[in-house]
Amino acid sequence: MQTLTILGSTGSIGVSTLDVMARHPDKFSVFALAGHSQVDKLAEQCHQFQSRYAVVADEQRAQALRPLLGSLKTEILFGEQALIDVATASEVTGVMCAIVGAAGLPSALAAAQSGKTIYLANKETLVVSGSLFMETARQHGAKVLPIDSEHNAIFQVLPQNYSGSLKKHGINAIILTASGGSFLHTDLADLPHITPAQAVKHPNWSMGQKISVDSSTMMNKGLELIEAHWLFNCPPEQLEVVIHPQSIIHSMVRYADGSVLAQMGLPDMRTPIAYCLGLPERIDSGVGALDFSKIAALTFQEPDFARYPCLKLAYDAMYAGGSAPCVLNAANEVAVAAFLRGQIRFTDIARVVEHSLAKHVSGSLNSIDDLLALDKQIRAEAEQFSGSLKSLQNTKL
Ligand code: NAD
Ligand code: MG
Repeated sequence: MQTLTILGSTGSIGVSTLDVMARHPDKFSVFALAGHSQVDKLAEQCHQFQSRYAVVADEQRAQALRPLLGSLKTEILFGEQALIDVATASEVTGVMCAIVGAAGLPSALAAAQSGKTIYLANKETLVVSGSLFMETARQHGAKVLPIDSEHNAIFQVLPQNYSGSLKKHGINAIILTASGGSFLHTDLADLPHITPAQAVKHPNWSMGQKISVDSSTMMNKGLELIEAHWLFNCPPEQLEVVIHPQSIIHSMVRYADGSVLAQMGLPDMRTPIAYCLGLPERIDSGVGALDFSKIAALTFQEPDFARYPCLKLAYDAMYAGGSAPCVLNAANEVAVAAFLRGQIRFTDIARVVEHSLAKHVSGSLNSIDDLLALDKQIRAEAEQFSGSLKSLQNTKL
């Protein structure tokens, strides 16, 4: 029986995780659910899974949650330290890290320090602190299992004894597939007028707002390149991206003998979640069978940096290394939030990120405190720059 903490339980990944767990009550129990602000949804989950702890953002939400729990014995905690406490408690065997953004970093790192099995959905952790996080996990014997569908696909088709050296295993490249998002065929001249409502609608996947916008700019693939770099110790020059609009092939590994191994399935995050939760067994995920007679075609194309400048910026940050990916991520989080608030245009997201990267001289930062301080500084600068773009727009109007 595994006892799990689900960080970000009310989000898209959190809900899919609980859906898989509910299919196997003999295998999994819930220790803690962390839901930040959606107290109604969190209360429902606490009732269904009899969670020992529930974590919310602050005291006000804790008070709002209390009456919704009725006679349940669930203990309510709040704040950032509480996330760390429920991720590191001795009873916990595994932690699903499914908070969105760099806000998920301290709890994921704490889980690594405690040697937990980490189900890692929060890619921002690896983008911001890849070296530190992987080294911490190694030192403390924490297993890091990739939930992100591409990385999960790669994990499934790498040799079972993969030791972190592509060369040693006769691997020439890791190929990440990308859907291309909602605006693959949109006229470039129309991109500045994309609305938040259009950008959060992904053609194939149902996901949280931030990652949906990231998919439409392809920043998501950029973050995933950096994620793959750290997870598989893959040199940047051996990472490829190909657009595959149907999202059936979730990624591939190219071997030296000419073989390419791919993992396929319907675009549903319950597959990678069930794969990781079930290891070493394959368990039911609730995902339907892939019906090849209904797939008209699997197609592929090169990404175009004119359409996806965020992908180019992410490549640049990956090659620059050091703290550049932390800058990339912080600026992107600010820009996406500003876009979702209607403050800046869709095409301004790349401008904000570019501005932050250009201003910042990449050095290497090795402590969590230094990384979080840089993250904070870049956010403040990017907020200011986003504000200046807004006033520019107003002047033009
Ligand atoms: P989401 O927006 O649906 O959910 C985010 C969760 O994090 C919610 O439970 C929310 O309450 C919580 N949260 C938000 N801000 C928080 C904060 N400051 N502190 C603590 N908790 C906070 O997001 P999602 O789509 O489920 O994505 C979660 C993570 O998984 C992201 O890093 C994303 O990149 C990654 N991921 C998601 C998918 C997907 O299909 N949704 C696929 C691959 C990877
Ligand atoms: Mg992905």
